[in-house]
Amino acid sequence: MQMESGRMQAVGEAPLPAELGGQDLHWFDQVRALLVTTRLPPLPDVYDLFWRYVRDEDHGLSLAIDSAIAMGGLSLAGVATLRRAHCGDVGASEVAALVEAAHDQAEALTGLIEAGRTDLADYGRAIADGGARLAAPLDPAGLAALLEQLGAATAAIQAANARLASELATAAAEARGLSEQLGRAERAAITDQLTGVLNRRGTIEALQRAQADTRGNGTRLALAMVDIDHFKRFNDRFGHALGDEVLRFVARHVADHIAPAGGSVGRLGGEEFIALLPDHDVLAAAAIIDRARAELAGQIIRNAADGSSMGRVSFSAGIAGDHHDDDADSLIERADRALYTAKRMGRDRVVPDRS
Ligand code: GH3
Ligand code: MG
Ligand code: MG
Repeated sequence: MQMESGRMQAVGEAPLPAELGGQDLHWFDQVRALLVTTRLPPLPDVYDLFWRYVRDEDHGLSLAIDSAIAMGGLSLAGVATLRRAHCGDVGASEVAALVEAAHDQAEALTGLIEAGRTDLADYGRAIADGGARLAAPLDPAGLAALLEQLGAATAAIQAANARLASELATAAAEARGLSEQLGRAERAAITDQLTGVLNRRGTIEALQRAQADTRGNGTRLALAMVDIDHFKRFNDRFGHALGDEVLRFVARHVADHIAPAGGSVGRLGGEEFIALLPDHDVLAAAAIIDRARAELAGQIIRNAADGSSMGRVSFSAGIAGDHHDDDADSLIERADRALYTAKRMGRDRVVPDRS
């Protein structure tokens, strides 16, 4: 932290608050350097992408950015593509196309209903007209002509009804297709592409919902912050592709352990996961997570390709219980502090927050 405070003061900034630690500023400087290198504007999406990059939150993303820069640079369109693939962004054009399709469909339906109403009004007029003519005495020829007219009007409304029914069936099928597409886009926006569990955005949203439910019905909620131990070493030794496999495996492993207790898992980034356990206090949640930890640490991980051993993988976890005045950040922060204690105590352990 040599330069940072001097530079901030040189531009007349107030002294840095203590929580703005040297590491954060270091990353900030790296993001700044990347913005200069790529000549991209410091827009929120670009900044956020580079922030993930300098923290190596998603190694696949880091590799993709490295190769884009090596191949001559990164454009705003490239940033959007990377965000769609790695950050759960749904492409604006994709959403625009869906909205336009929904709009066209609403118009088509209005048209169908309007046509149906006109057909019905015509039929109503034909019947009323026939009724009026029946009021006066009619000779057999006049009666036959009237019956023929009413028969033709009935045939016309039947044909119109059949047409309307088939057009409505088509419109309903299109509406179902559209709503499935929208559902897929919504799920993609909150799903981590690598592991299939919730991504960061989905995790924070799920946490906020769980906190609101907890407040609403007076139940409890525990949050586990799970971090794979010495994962960098694993990557360095076996390569990132196998590292990715381990991330998938650990995500599945934790999810399988907590699902029976009603829990859910999300990937916060990198090798960090959050497990939410509604209706559990800290100690009950810690017991469940600890069983998952012990089982994982007791297994030898094997390379599916050739059966060779890759040794053991373990994780550490910090568990915190939701307090009535918590928001997502404060709850995560307490779990994070307990996680830090678990790491300091030697890793491969679960530490409950006692506050
Ligand atoms: P600790 O026990 O203290 O948590 O050590 P660690 O090595 O697990 O932690 P550190 O934060 O030093 O390193 C995390 C590593 O996770 C660095 C990064 O390369 C790796 N990583 C992050 N995201 C991914 C990913 O998507 N795929 C792979 N394979 N590795 C990733
Ligand atoms: Mg780790
Ligand atoms: Mg970590």
